[in-house]
Amino acid sequence: MSKCVLVTGGAGYIGSHTTVELTAAGYDVVIADNLSNSDMSGVEGVRTITGKNIPFIELNCLDRAAMEKLFEDYKIDAVIHFAAFKAVGESVAEPLKYYSNNIESFVTLLQVAEKYGVNNIVFSSSATVYGQPDVLPATEQTPRKPATSPYGNTKQMCEDILRDTVAASQSLKGIALRYFNPIGAHPSALIGELPKGVPNNLVPFITQTAAGVRECLSIFGDDYNTPDGSCLRDYIDVVDLAKAHVTAVSRMLDDKNKERYEIFNIGTGRAVSVFELVNTFEKVNNLKLNYKVVGRRPGDVESVWADTTLAETELGWKAERSLDDTLKSAWEWEKRVRGL
Ligand code: UDP
Repeated sequence: MSKCVLVTGGAGYIGSHTTVELTAAGYDVVIADNLSNSDMSGVEGVRTITGKNIPFIELNCLDRAAMEKLFEDYKIDAVIHFAAFKAVGESVAEPLKYYSNNIESFVTLLQVAEKYGVNNIVFSSSATVYGQPDVLPATEQTPRKPATSPYGNTKQMCEDILRDTVAASQSLKGIALRYFNPIGAHPSALIGELPKGVPNNLVPFITQTAAGVRECLSIFGDDYNTPDGSCLRDYIDVVDLAKAHVTAVSRMLDDKNKERYEIFNIGTGRAVSVFELVNTFEKVNNLKLNYKVVGRRPGDVESVWADTTLAETELGWKAERSLDDTLKSAWEWEKRVRGL
């Protein structure tokens, strides 16, 4: 019988792509989402791509009774917890909104999972926990830096909550995946990133500028201590990232994990500058982007990219899609959303 994976936040950007890859790998999936930062189009897209009527439960993970009902109704074998708020700036302005939603929902999930004997949890963490590392690339052993936003703090706190809960349990297993910069969309262009309002992230801003929704991309700083002066990041294709979750779930369900709590970097291992990303986007999509260089964005780190050795050797996972293909997919998605 197929194992069943609960995907919280499964209507969202990374959750929807992960649901597709889990289904392709033979898992049953239940999506739980309160649609606070998404809508049913993600779920519809997943259903079209997979050809399966993936169950969708509209709920808030803070709602213990609704969560318990879900665990009563479905025999869950593993959970991937994506459901969280993710806007750095908003978290600075409204910290309690972030602490309440991101922390309390994870605690509730862990309590309900324990009650129902569900022992396999994947947590959606972030390279933001590294801040500006002293040594690059960042390995999983690279010390975390004090968080510079409540959002970043919730990622660190949830990692620790999972670590401590695993340590206190006889049977619970947990994996935290630290994503670098997820970008791109499904090759079908049926699912992708749908930011509400003005995008904070680089690639949605680029695609919206190309689509004419934004007038001009601002490049935040060309005076960094990097080869071309712009920041360096590790841009990971969202489908590759989704597949990393499948390997993490399988690792726990097949009892292949070495420790009961494990952390993996999920990136490409390649540093790409903002200028390189913009130039590549223009080249592969054969268009010119309106952009200007402005001052640095407060809070940005200069450079961060992943050492992916552990994910390769332990998970057997490696990023596969080229930056060219990823940036083509991002543009195809934007065009579909805009009807271009
Ligand atoms: N960036 C930019 N213009 C934008 C948005 C982002 O130049 O409109 C830069 C930003 O300074 C950083 C990189 O793009 O160097 C990635 O930013 P993003 O917000 O996507 O991710 P993060 O800051 O979390 O790495």
